[in-house]
Amino acid sequence: MRIVLLGAPGAGKGTQAKKISAKFGIPHISTGDILRNELKNSTGLGNKASEYMQAGKLVPDELIIEIIKHRLAEGNTGNPFLMDGFPRTLNQAIMFDNMLASMGISVEKVINIFVDKAELVKRLMGRRICHSCAGVCHIDLLQKGSENRCPICGGELYTRKDDAIKVIKERLRVYENQTKPLTDYYAKKGILYNIDGSGTENEITERLLQVL
Ligand code: AMP
Repeated sequence: MRIVLLGAPGAGKGTQAKKISAKFGIPHISTGDILRNELKNSTGLGNKASEYMQAGKLVPDELIIEIIKHRLAEGNTGNPFLMDGFPRTLNQAIMFDNMLASMGISVEKVINIFVDKAELVKRLMGRRICHSCAGVCHIDLLQKGSENRCPICGGELYTRKDDAIKVIKERLRVYENQTKPLTDYYAKKGILYNIDGSGTENEITERLLQVL
């Protein structure tokens, strides 16, 4: 399986990618996670990316392409992959296609998870991440009095810096302008599948599995 997950921030790409990756044993490649890790370790790449990420802007294509080249070259990635948050610009999509073509492979399916804007804002503003298990949850589903405890492992929860309303608005604007046009690019190739990203996590997973 060589899959790309498309969708706005908050559409549920990361949550669904983890489930699909575990079910089928496909490597889950999240450029956002890779960048956050680089940032945490204060690497050169992390330092270069930091300013863009905190402002809700896209990190320059050259840096992202380098990440993907390295990740695909790693032994455990091999042929199958599940891309989450990449590609995000037309230029990245074209460079990715060329990179895969040179390996004699191509993207098989692009799944676009669509969710309306008000719901995206609500999800992002209430999103909490666990320091211990990296699980993602929504503040509305946490019990009163345990708002900072992970419901899965009891670890401490935190809010991503870019889940602040000002940055959310910029990320959604960037998505509309730079990433949404990718749906046309992949539709023309005949590999785009649109799925409704509203409802519960399991309902969305069911829709995804039907397409896969
Ligand atoms: P995400 O976790 O996918 O929402 O990504 C968090 C941030 O990382 C984005 O707002 C961008 O600043 C950066 N980022 C992640 N993936 C990409 C990409 N493919 N191209 C450019 N910037 C990216």
